[in-house]
Amino acid sequence: MSHWPRRKTFSVDVGGVTIGSEYPLVIQSMTDTDTGDVESTVEQIKRLVDAGSEIVRITVNNDEAAKSVSSIKIRLIDDGVSVPLVGDFHYNGHLLLKQYPECATALAKYRINPGNVGSKHRDANFQKIIEVAIHNDTPVRIGVNWGSLDQRLLAEAMDINAGKSLPKSSDQVVIDTIVESALRSAELAEEIGLAHDMIILSAKVSAVPELIQVYQRLASKCEYPLHLGLTEAGLGLKGVVSTSTAVAPLLIQGIGDTLRVSLTPQPNGNRAEEVLVAKQVLQSLQIRSFEPQVTSCPGCGRTSSTLFQEMTLEIQDYIRRNMPVWSKNYPGVEEMTVAVMGCVVNGPGESKHANLGISLPGNAEDPKAPVYVDGQHHTTLSGEGLVKEFKGIIEDYVADNFKKIEQNV
Ligand code: SF4
Repeated sequence: MSHWPRRKTFSVDVGGVTIGSEYPLVIQSMTDTDTGDVESTVEQIKRLVDAGSEIVRITVNNDEAAKSVSSIKIRLIDDGVSVPLVGDFHYNGHLLLKQYPECATALAKYRINPGNVGSKHRDANFQKIIEVAIHNDTPVRIGVNWGSLDQRLLAEAMDINAGKSLPKSSDQVVIDTIVESALRSAELAEEIGLAHDMIILSAKVSAVPELIQVYQRLASKCEYPLHLGLTEAGLGLKGVVSTSTAVAPLLIQGIGDTLRVSLTPQPNGNRAEEVLVAKQVLQSLQIRSFEPQVTSCPGCGRTSSTLFQEMTLEIQDYIRRNMPVWSKNYPGVEEMTVAVMGCVVNGPGESKHANLGISLPGNAEDPKAPVYVDGQHHTTLSGEGLVKEFKGIIEDYVADNFKKIEQNV
């Protein structure tokens, strides 16, 4: 369904989920539990998977975490959850992966930050991780982050730049170095013996214009699949808007093969929100479909009623509640569109663009609500039972228009 052809990449198999331009763009997420706490981590992974995460990354930062990885995987499999797990390593990944081979084999991918593999023995430590990856036939993500950029590389680049007759700005040198660090590390991994289709790259920054530049540069210089995301996007509205404005221009250019949204959750908030945002970004760009979309107007002085707001919420909830069953029984239902509009100004027009649409009466209009189905006037509703009747029309539409899969009993 995508309007945006993807940049051609290698395909990388991450525990049965393939990342690359020939495959649907993959949604991933990361836990924020203590990985040593198997119970909490398993529960959070399940919530992320329920929300739609197709790969989940977990922190592997100490002995307890490394020891817990295989238990987490076994618990998930016992509970029928087969999501690939990615280990996030910084500073001591070379030690933990060697010391805990059951952790190394349980993981479907290792995330390595080339800025955090040590300074003195940087290349040797990096080599040890790559050797484990080769031994276990496990892909890696080389994930550069400007918060932990290789300082030696940056200092070298700054020195070279300072000696030029027309030096670049320091921001530009940082961008160059981020790209350089990712590409050099990938080259080194290949020299050690890791196949090119076992490498995914990311180069994350937290500023939107810089992120766009970094990924455009990286995309033009290699064929590795790219893990996309604005790092440290922030809290709530700021995080959602910043992420969307950063990744959308790249996705439109076909850049990005897997997406993670790095929101700061509210205290005790819902970690799975990052997955919902990622899905909505992809669905808004018509790259993938996950659930029927409800279009609704913002309301204005032409409607003093809150009915259209309440109805939009109720219809949205109704669709979400039904989706676990509909998506199993009626493939394709996720592409259905529904419009709930506040008055006749844009109501019928917008309704005709959707599969199903209802236009509620605005101020001084007849208390009637015309309903459109596939662009044609279907019926006109009124009175207190209007919302219930509209849900019935949606239900009939789903049953009539999407091929039912008979379930074996
Ligand atoms: S559809 Fe009607 S109520 Fe909704 S924003 Fe437009 S004019 Fe206002």
